Amino acid sequence: MKQPIPAAAFAAMRAAVEEYQLITPSSQATSAGIASRVAQELIASGFEVRTATRSVKRRRPRPRSRSPRGVCRTCERDYAITRDGRIREHNAPGQSTGCRGSRKTPVPGSITSAVVDRSRSSCST
Ligand SMILES: [Zn+2]
Repeated sequence: MKQPIPAAAFAAMRAAVEEYQLITPSSQATSAGIASRVAQELIASGFEVRTATRSVKRRRPRPRSRSPRGVCRTCERDYAITRDGRIREHNAPGQSTGCRGSRKTPVPGSITSAVVDRSRSSCST
């Protein structure tokens, strides 16, 4: 990630290097000396020379754990399975009344695991 150097900071660095080269014989010039001079000049110019505080990497939110699902015996639609292995309470399709298959065990073998990718499980027996 490339961050733009503030023009004032760049000017301060250039000035520091030029000044260093002016006052230091080239035979005695060292990169450490230049770096030190640059850093001092930056600080003198009001900049901070420090470890950048890295933005804390945001952890990706975990994909919502999908609860296992099963097919209702009555309306033959799939719904979430409760912890005790029964179909979640739901309304009959297109109606505002509860489906008779609510809170009952799903069609045997219809329960899909939360981990199974349903698009790939079509060939399973
Ligand atoms: Zn139902």
